[in-house]
Amino acid sequence: MDAAEFRKRGKEMVDYVADYLEKIEKRQVFPDVEPGYLRPLIADCAPQDPESFEDVFKDIEKIIMPGVTHWHSPYFFAYFPSASSFPALLADMLCGGIGCVGFSWAASPACTELETVMLDWLGKMVNLPKEFLAEKDGQGGGVIQGSASEATLIALLAARTKIIRQVQSEKPELTEADIMGRLVAYASDQFCATLGTTSCCSFDKLLELGPICNKENIWMHIDAAYAGSAFICPEFRHLLNGVEFADSFNFNPHKWLLVNFDCSAMWVKKRSDLIGAFKLEPLYLQHHHQESGLVTDYRHWQIPLGRRFRSLKLWFVLRMYGVKGLQEHIRKHIRLSHQFEHLVLQDERFEICAEVVLGLVCFRLKGSNELNEALLKSINDAKKIHLVPCHLREKFVLRFAVCSRTVESTHIKFAWQHISQLATDLLKTWEHNHHQQ
Ligand SMILES: *Cc1c(COP(=O)(O)O)cnc(C)c1O
Repeated sequence: MDAAEFRKRGKEMVDYVADYLEKIEKRQVFPDVEPGYLRPLIADCAPQDPESFEDVFKDIEKIIMPGVTHWHSPYFFAYFPSASSFPALLADMLCGGIGCVGFSWAASPACTELETVMLDWLGKMVNLPKEFLAEKDGQGGGVIQGSASEATLIALLAARTKIIRQVQSEKPELTEADIMGRLVAYASDQFCATLGTTSCCSFDKLLELGPICNKENIWMHIDAAYAGSAFICPEFRHLLNGVEFADSFNFNPHKWLLVNFDCSAMWVKKRSDLIGAFKLEPLYLQHHHQESGLVTDYRHWQIPLGRRFRSLKLWFVLRMYGVKGLQEHIRKHIRLSHQFEHLVLQDERFEICAEVVLGLVCFRLKGSNELNEALLKSINDAKKIHLVPCHLREKFVLRFAVCSRTVESTHIKFAWQHISQLATDLLKTWEHNHHQQ
């Protein structure tokens, strides 16, 4: 494919994606395929001779789409949202076009510098304490990781290196292995200090945890993967109070801030803590600048060496939505989750299982776990909407997460009427089969 054909095909692909997203509601949210469906549909090995774009393109609807779960359908209420917006899609195209690998400042200065500034913008949007910002001469700063899981692992490794060095400076006779075996990581059954847990969006009390961590010289990492985006709204910012005690903080704009996957934002108060843990300087990666607020080599802030120009997505989205546009998006989702909550509360057969703070509603039929498992199965078998469950204190609970950028009140009403009808059908047969023992 040459540039001339790319121009033509690129426009066709943009049209295809725009059509897909514009009409996504008409597609069944969850696919009908069985495991292994795809292999028989394609060749056993890569073609020896090149194929045309048309050949590949026509297979999208034939082979790929039948096996796609449509995360951006307004009938998708599973997991947590996965962000998507047109500005982010365009930025990703540019990212692919530039195609740089920004492991050091010199490897592509714009890639590094835009990321540092975007993480400052984002940090200011959620009103992070100044220590977390890089600005011109700060000791902190932000970085884009691939996922919240990576951010947690990096915080753990940085904390480990930091404390080992500290102990060794006081007791030089101890080896790294002596110390390593005696380190302790404290966690709840949801792991580290979390704002908005995955199962039910509950919040740890940072104002209680934080001072203890500081007093005992324990690294505090905060995972706000989903909830973090909501802190751009002043009315939800109080949920982040106590972040001032943390060493590192992370949330995923790729969940709820309209920046397509992957974009997980992580900040540290002391960039030297991260760099200390990961710094590697083979000769071919060295250059004459010192690591500072002005020159950052992001390879020391992450596990991989290579990294994409992901800050373009943030830049496009933050500018083209503005803080106000993003606040509107968050507020709409939270309004819709409360709408669903109220519908559930009006039905005596159901109960709400956790306080609805943001865009997630945990609910169940009053009754056994088996009954609720059967309800979820009938919902997901019907494939009109898609939900996933969780366990809360041994109870099987259904999670209703407001996800799609284009979801509206009518979709919420439809989802509830559908669930309520399936519950009615289920309870009829259930009482017949299970109740009269
Ligand atoms: C979604 C989620 C994660 C995992 O996020 P990844 O970026 O996919 O690793 C971690 N923690 C919480 C609280 C989450 O909601």
